[in-house]
Amino acid sequence: VSPEKFNNTGDIIIEDKKDYHYLTRVLRCKPEDDVILLNGEGDSWLSKIHDITDNKISFSISKQLQEQRETPIEVGLAQVLLKKDNFELVLQKTTELGVKIVYPLFSDRSEINYNDDKKVRKKISRWNEIVKNASEQSRRQIIPTVEHPSTFKEFINDPKIKSWDIVYICHEKAIFSIKEALKKDTEQRVSSILLLVGPEGGFSPSEISLAKERGVNSLSLGPRVLRAETAGITATTLVLYELAD
Ligand code: SAM
Repeated sequence: VSPEKFNNTGDIIIEDKKDYHYLTRVLRCKPEDDVILLNGEGDSWLSKIHDITDNKISFSISKQLQEQRETPIEVGLAQVLLKKDNFELVLQKTTELGVKIVYPLFSDRSEINYNDDKKVRKKISRWNEIVKNASEQSRRQIIPTVEHPSTFKEFINDPKIKSWDIVYICHEKAIFSIKEALKKDTEQRVSSILLLVGPEGGFSPSEISLAKERGVNSLSLGPRVLRAETAGITATTLVLYELAD
């Protein structure tokens, strides 16, 4: 629910078709049910359903909640796009886990290429729908951002990458395990970690060298080679296990 809706009175009306469907058909809400409304920016309100009419649900807000369900450190995932529905699976699961931002990437060995603008826009809109639904399911207070896709090289050369406290590239041949790397690199408090995960065929040697030149450390997820979608979800889980929840 957009935050400005909460400014005027204690009552709020939702007319969005998808939210209406989610509340009435999926959650089967009825008048007098208690519902937590989220604005996707960290605020939540306890409210009661007042009335349900055709395509409209009205709520009365009882109080603003002071809960904290977001992770104490920010985890970002730069995941090379994957075949079939695997990228969407990664988006859904890492949203449930608490990821803050996802960067879809094209890389030397990625087998996906959306060269048509219309297709990219359609994909971004579907990805945002997936993270919104997953956020509602997990009662996230912040809906993760899915960025516009870029190439690995553009991404790694973008100065914005420096805003992350630590950046790791997940690589099967890395020496340090996640536990060792975090122990070594988090002696001082860190508040944000960005993880880079490759496609089905892995990162190319030149991508690994470029990442190294930019000061990005390699990280191993163990001696077994994981499928790319397993790697993104596992890396997010392990970082949060070690540092946050
Ligand atoms: N083509 C590679 C091979 O057969 O050796 C495998 C690539 S793997 C399926 C896809 C991506 O998952 C890799 O680029 C890496 O980012 C990540 N990954 C998979 N297993 C990993 C591991 N044990 N440690 C670190 N990263 C891993």
